[in-house]
Amino acid sequence: MINLTSLDITNKNLVIRVDMNVPIKDGIVADASRIKACIPTIKFALENNAKVLLVSHLGRPEEGNFEEKFSMKPVAESLSNILNEEVGLIGGLDSEDIFKSPSSIQILENIRFFEGEKANDKDLGNKLANLGDIYVFDAFGTAHREQASTHSAIEQSKIACAGLLLEREIDFLTKALNNYQKPYLAIIGGAKVSTKLELIKHIDNVADNIIIGGGIANTFILASGLNVGKSLVEETLVDIAKSILDKGKIILPKVAITSESFEGKNINKKLISDIKDNEMILDLYIEEETDQLINNANTILWNGPMGVFENKAFEKGTRDLSNAIAKSKAFSLAGGGETLSAINKYIKPDDVSYCSTGGGAFLEFMEGKALPAIKVLNSKGNGR
Ligand code: AMP
Repeated sequence: MINLTSLDITNKNLVIRVDMNVPIKDGIVADASRIKACIPTIKFALENNAKVLLVSHLGRPEEGNFEEKFSMKPVAESLSNILNEEVGLIGGLDSEDIFKSPSSIQILENIRFFEGEKANDKDLGNKLANLGDIYVFDAFGTAHREQASTHSAIEQSKIACAGLLLEREIDFLTKALNNYQKPYLAIIGGAKVSTKLELIKHIDNVADNIIIGGGIANTFILASGLNVGKSLVEETLVDIAKSILDKGKIILPKVAITSESFEGKNINKKLISDIKDNEMILDLYIEEETDQLINNANTILWNGPMGVFENKAFEKGTRDLSNAIAKSKAFSLAGGGETLSAINKYIKPDDVSYCSTGGGAFLEFMEGKALPAIKVLNSKGNGR
């Protein structure tokens, strides 16, 4: 694929697909992390005297309609504060004059307001592709979606390239997927096995050990023949969990925090072999054995919390895990929305070697899948 940094972009018009899908509260950006992640590419473009039109989605509006609560206006304001520069907000794509504006940086209204985005519509893709001289894809978080701004626009552009964030994501994720140092420890938690099954299966091929935590662990605990009471489980996946356990790489925590309700009725600390029928496992502990594995690892991949860490009563497993990873000397890669929330809550993103900005895209990349946006970018780079 072509990288933005390898192109001469002086006085060129760039359309940059970014992922500025940030939380908005009372008309203000509540967490600007995703906007900040786009700054290196934006600065590179502006410092090289290019003009920029940013394209992003925000939330899930109904396609074809403008809805105030999904407008990019708060994003434009937040970005303007970060850059200390006016950021114009463009309502439609029909104007020939978008790049004639005196502003060097503008942002298009939510791309999901435009008919055809979801369906990867060729006409919408064509419009986006031909607005500027170069189409830059930097929205790693949406690279797993085959939509007009993440696929068709790349396909139909004269020149399409990867922005600095995408380049960094691919470098770090590839390192953890293909270019790792052993011992390799994967830690996979979160709510449901069904959303992590492909990741567990794929990582089973490269990791030496996989610590399973969170709600996911319940299905594995059940598969190992123990009672999980009324914990969240996926009964239909018990047999698959058994076959994964048989491969011998899975490590299940041994100590659980249980309660009779998510709100914390009758909280107990106990061995996972002692769970009663009326109890739920809501947190799992990292003990000496798992601490040792983290200390010895040279590569750590982490996705998903160990428990319902949003509630203080069930946060210890995730907090201890975050601290252990922060102390480790390993190359550590973390990804997923809840995982990054935990990192921001208990440690700092800098305590981890790399925090991916992708949720679904991160999972699919680490499952070994070819992401549609990356695939089409690669095809545009062929022969250059
Ligand atoms: P995910 O997005 O799949 O990584 O899942 C994150 C969510 O899993 C968090 O919001 C946690 O509250 C939830 N979670 C973690 N452990 C459990 C558990 N034992 N039971 C139910 N939900 C859990």
